[in-house]
Amino acid sequence: PEVCTFCNESFDKAASYRRHMASHLSVELHQCVECHKLFNNNRQLNFHMKIH
Ligand SMILES: [Zn+2]
Ligand SMILES: [Zn+2]
Repeated sequence: PEVCTFCNESFDKAASYRRHMASHLSVELHQCVECHKLFNNNRQLNFHMKIH
């Protein structure tokens, strides 16, 4: 099975695994660690981080 590298949850179906990973990526890579504001992409997030 596919195992999530973020939370170690395992998935029998590759499709469920990809959907699960996408949920992590959208939340964890594009969320400000300081104020938890969400961004559509890393470029916006990096730009935002300059104000902290
Ligand atoms: Zn996970
Ligand atoms: Zn922020």
